Amino acid sequence: MIKTYKVEDITDVMINKAENLLSAKFKQLEEISQYNLRKVLWAMKNNRLSDVHFNWNTGYGYDDIGRDTTECIFADVFGAEDAIVRPQIASGTHALSLMIMGLVLPQQTIVSITGAPYDTLHPTFGIVDCEGVNLKKIGAIYRQVELKNGDFDEQKIMEEIEKKPEYVYIQRSAGYSWRSHIDVQKINLMVRKIKAKSPKTMVLLDNCYGEFTEMEEPNVDVLAGSLIKNAGGGLVVGGGYLVGKKELITKISERLTAPGIGKEIGLMFGQTRNILQGLFMAPSVVKSAMMGAYLFGEVFEQLGYQINPTPRESNGHIIQAIQLESEEKLLNFCKAIQASAPVNAYVTPLPAPMPGYVDDVIMAAGCFVQGSSIEMSADGPVKPPYIVYFQGGLCYEHVKIALEEVLRTL
Ligand SMILES: *Cc1c(COP(=O)(O)O)cnc(C)c1O
Repeated sequence: MIKTYKVEDITDVMINKAENLLSAKFKQLEEISQYNLRKVLWAMKNNRLSDVHFNWNTGYGYDDIGRDTTECIFADVFGAEDAIVRPQIASGTHALSLMIMGLVLPQQTIVSITGAPYDTLHPTFGIVDCEGVNLKKIGAIYRQVELKNGDFDEQKIMEEIEKKPEYVYIQRSAGYSWRSHIDVQKINLMVRKIKAKSPKTMVLLDNCYGEFTEMEEPNVDVLAGSLIKNAGGGLVVGGGYLVGKKELITKISERLTAPGIGKEIGLMFGQTRNILQGLFMAPSVVKSAMMGAYLFGEVFEQLGYQINPTPRESNGHIIQAIQLESEEKLLNFCKAIQASAPVNAYVTPLPAPMPGYVDDVIMAAGCFVQGSSIEMSADGPVKPPYIVYFQGGLCYEHVKIALEEVLRTL
């Protein structure tokens, strides 16, 4: 008997097949998520978190036990000595810029060993101009070592380390480029090699999109990220965090508030409960987003598209890149994602010019928190090979529904 499939049936069959192929990956993600949740639970217990910590105070915010406990919990989860976790930090870029401008002094050198930093940090490093104070204007020196085949170029890095730079900078996630993330084991090994050659060099790291994708977090001197990506579990309405060596976190906190004052002041505006509940949800939400990224990857690979990373590689950030090869497909992909969003599902995304991009960019996102990329979204520059970057998803069911919609639309 010849069986005729409806479109719906075909998408079902494809998705089921992909899920079966991914079952070992999904099991591994569950283990990572559980391990990370244990770390969070332990940190909350270790710091005797109780509901009194969800209160907040006014004015300067001296002796805010909720804020201090939140920062101790973050430090413990990341295995660090100290932390800054604040709603005043406006974004991931702000957290990273505080880290850099709070530490690097005139005449000192900072070397990025993962090529150019994320676009929004170019003004901070002085790669492009800005009105305000940046590394270039204070007379600090910035250099970068390009990646070699998507990995550390050890030889070139070590040539730089011979010159004993004060700081090294690493970006863990690929961000929006066709490369893979750099996994924590590799980062930690590189940090040990750097320290063996130049013990005084401090290693700073951009942890955006990387949190809780692996069992361990990078072992560096300071790392920073956003609370509206992985670490906020989709619940946090805004903010950033930094964790690391106490001495360095103190210096950074004096950049955040004022010299001599640092972490002692700053209100939480009632956000401690939200931030901690977000941290509690984060390992599970990151797992869902990773499962979604793998599912999209597997199905699109079966359909014959180039994808990055492939389901056989580990994905250490929550982004799945797919080369769609045609403008029409890119637009339709983004339309389908938008149509599956909980917020603004009725609008149609259109390509538009974006500051910092030569080509028009199309973006699909319908999030509860503006710009939150742990919530499901897709975007890409409208130029060959028409790569779409798909990320996020607070729950796996949502990603699956969106994938059905994408397959129907394409
Ligand atoms: C998102 C991101 C940033 C910047 O964070 P914003 O919150 O968007 O300012 C920096 N680096 C990487 C790798 C990112 O993914």
